[in-house]
Amino acid sequence: MTPELLITARLPPFLFEPLRARYACHDHFQATDQPALLATAGPRVRGLVQGGGTVTPTVLLDQLPQLEIISVFGVGYDGVPVDYCRTRGILVTHTPDVLTDDVADLATALVLMTARGLVAAERFVRSGEWSRGGPPLTNRLGGKTAGILGLGRIGKAIGRRLEALGMRVAYTGRKPQADVAWRYVPTLAALAADADFLVVACPGGAATHHLVDAGVLAALGAKGTLINIARGTIVDEPALVDALQRGVIRGAGLDVFADEPNVPPPLLAMDNVVLLPHVGSATRETRQAMADLCRANLDAWFAGQPVPARIPELA
Ligand code: NAP
Repeated sequence: MTPELLITARLPPFLFEPLRARYACHDHFQATDQPALLATAGPRVRGLVQGGGTVTPTVLLDQLPQLEIISVFGVGYDGVPVDYCRTRGILVTHTPDVLTDDVADLATALVLMTARGLVAAERFVRSGEWSRGGPPLTNRLGGKTAGILGLGRIGKAIGRRLEALGMRVAYTGRKPQADVAWRYVPTLAALAADADFLVVACPGGAATHHLVDAGVLAALGAKGTLINIARGTIVDEPALVDALQRGVIRGAGLDVFADEPNVPPPLLAMDNVVLLPHVGSATRETRQAMADLCRANLDAWFAGQPVPARIPELA
């Protein structure tokens, strides 16, 4: 029997079409009557495909009694109720590694854009202001300190890039990492106090909710810029807006927000922030590789073969 899948996110055609060719797919994301879809197909669904940013409530999973696997199209699985899945024996898979370099490139770009005022400089040319004088001076990166919160796959790739730009690298996390020579700082507040750029690269979810709060931003101080490519929930956004408005920190480069696609309106008016629409992994090559891995996880499971990328908690 062809396994039935519930699709709970907007998937790109290069993932959805191959899935439709192999599985009976129920598009919950686009369904006009989601309760009716769940009532009819829910009892037969064996797999669920969601996005990295999708929040999957347990009440939805309660309606899928035959569910065996959740395949996340993304590396972050903070939207999956992992403890619930463990209890029910539901496997959770994701797409690590294949997106690491692109996300690290984007974090590096945000560091460069904020330090060198590149968005304002580009506007300066387009507006014709250049003919009336030179643009303002900006800030050198070489010799400055990057403090990375969460030195995992992406954090390490960011560290390598920023080191190549002549920056010092330090990091914090729940424990020191064995395979790096960079300085481990045990607390986030101490790392922020040291850092010129505080780069957030840890997972989202309850354990990291509002880890970057008013106290951490005060420690980062007026020399400091916050870069977040991880999850909006890790930063207390009202505290960030307040810190930027009052000049407590110098600036921010943000690819992620607490309530995407909604961005706090005060940020839109600030010249010292760079705002991107969650594009860390958004290259054709990487999204294709993510799609292939998302599908490979499902194919392996339903073929009874070893699954390439289970989340570590349920491995
Ligand atoms: P990873 O390899 O699992 O790295 C996460 C790091 O965070 C680990 O070093 C971990 O170290 C640390 N960490 C975990 N829990 C922590 C906590 N409570 N406090 C402090 N540090 C903690 O994951 P990754 O592949 O690098 O991805 C990181 C995150 O990037 C993802 O979860 C996702 O949310 C985000 N992301 C964003 C985009 C985008 O488009 N902007 C794209 C992909 C991924 P310890 O275990 O030693 O603490």
